[in-house]
Amino acid sequence: MDAHLRALENSKFACLWLDQSSRPEPLRPLSGDRRCELLIVGGGFTGMWAALQAKENNPELDIILIEATEIGNGASGRNGGFLSHMLAHGDMNAEYHFPGETQKLAELGRQNLRGFIDTLERYQIDARYENTGSIVATTRHSQNEHAEEAARLARSVGEDTVWLNRDEMRAKVDSPTYCGGIWRRGGEDGLVDPAYLCWGLKKTILALGVRVFERTPLVRLNSHGNGMQVDCPNGSVRCQKVLLATNAFRNPIRKARHSIIPVWDYVLATEPLSSAQREAIGWKGREGLSNIANMFHYYRMTHDDRITWGGGTTVCYYYGSGVDDSLADPRKRYVQLAKEFLETFPQLEGIRFTHRWSGIIGSSTRFCMAPGVAFDGKVAWSIGYTGLGVGATRFGARVGLELLGYNPSEILEMQFVRKPAMAWPPEPFRWIGVTLTRKEMARADRNDGKRGLWLKILDRLKLGFAC
Ligand SMILES: Cc1cc2nc3c(=O)[nH]c(=O)nc-3n(C[C@H](O)[C@H](O)[C@H](O)COP(=O)(O)OP(=O)(O)OC[C@H]3O[C@@H](n4cnc5c(N)ncnc54)[C@H](O)[C@@H]3O)c2cc1C
Repeated sequence: MDAHLRALENSKFACLWLDQSSRPEPLRPLSGDRRCELLIVGGGFTGMWAALQAKENNPELDIILIEATEIGNGASGRNGGFLSHMLAHGDMNAEYHFPGETQKLAELGRQNLRGFIDTLERYQIDARYENTGSIVATTRHSQNEHAEEAARLARSVGEDTVWLNRDEMRAKVDSPTYCGGIWRRGGEDGLVDPAYLCWGLKKTILALGVRVFERTPLVRLNSHGNGMQVDCPNGSVRCQKVLLATNAFRNPIRKARHSIIPVWDYVLATEPLSSAQREAIGWKGREGLSNIANMFHYYRMTHDDRITWGGGTTVCYYYGSGVDDSLADPRKRYVQLAKEFLETFPQLEGIRFTHRWSGIIGSSTRFCMAPGVAFDGKVAWSIGYTGLGVGATRFGARVGLELLGYNPSEILEMQFVRKPAMAWPPEPFRWIGVTLTRKEMARADRNDGKRGLWLKILDRLKLGFAC
């Protein structure tokens, strides 16, 4: 049997982070008719950061948060835990979609991350934060020129980023596939345990007086008098304002719904590495790692020295914006992931994967958050972080609150907030377009990064991902 198939045998279909004994019991669902001033829909990072910041700014504000399943069961409890200051998915993507705002977004991002870490300290939230920095490796020599340019751009907006040549890169983390790397070593970027962060935020907002109901989906949203009414299976909530923090899941507002698509991302976690296995790969700095490619992998060490490994060519979109549970465990995607893992770290042959899981990324056409308002400013949403939301959701929550009129600031004037995200086309064009793009991106990766006609057209229309 092939090494990667052997490695997958006996893996458990469960998210490593959520599969921990400290997982709290779910809170009771909402029943009966309730009232509050602000209703938050969605118990991921966005919803909880919104509740926390709203309470800190206005302690008297009466807030209810409803979550369809359990806190952290969406992307927030299932991600790689890469904590980045980036709000717009990289400086190049920022410059591409919001020209002239790159510097400001970098500053706001660093400020947001500082606020994030201060909050963890203030409420003693143990998110297992490690200030590791991150490295983006190149795997083809032809990528080095572009990567060095990206490192220069990062330095020009004040980041402590250096370029590593092949030998320097392999001295840090050893993979025969590496040709160089962009090492973001300064600042506070690092890693968290995403489930620990969710559970810590949940405990904190409960302590601040937010009423939280789990297993409580929003079923309907309507205006009612001067405010809004939300119906749930066993009750309703009347409120002044609603913040929709539902990310990749079905949004009740049509405009918001069309601004994002759900993209599935599959992940593996190894058993804890032995000291010999650690020695074989180096990685003493435990940096969050990814590679420069259209279909890139992201991987990291956990607190108990496992490696989590996600992304790559398995990332995909299903017809009709599918988010059904039946799409969560397709064997062929994990087989592919396992194969790609051993291609990167052949020296780890013999290792076992203990966990396999998936999560859904809300992707916007601008590859970063896409906020908006409806019902004359009584409803707002912050969704679509496109795979980089662990840090950015705190800022997204702030934008959502400001759009609802809570402590508005000058950020509401930025293109980043005001410029509407272009809608994804309807089916079947959506599926055809996304599937073709995915295939073309994978082909470009195999073809030394050379972009074919389709990707060039998207670039021209500013629909490409500039990273
Ligand atoms: C596999 C994976 C890896 C990732 N890795 C990283 C990473 O390393 N770094 C990074 O920065 N980002 C990463 N991301 C992205 C990041 O996880 C997300 O951007 C972020 O968690 C989004 O948070 P959220 O609260 O907006 O959405 P979610 O966490 O998805 O929360 C939305 C919540 O809304 C609830 N909901 C939906 N509909 C309703 C309804 N009708 N009524 C009530 N509740 C509802 C859902 O149940 C869900 O809990 C990754 C994502 C995935 C899937």
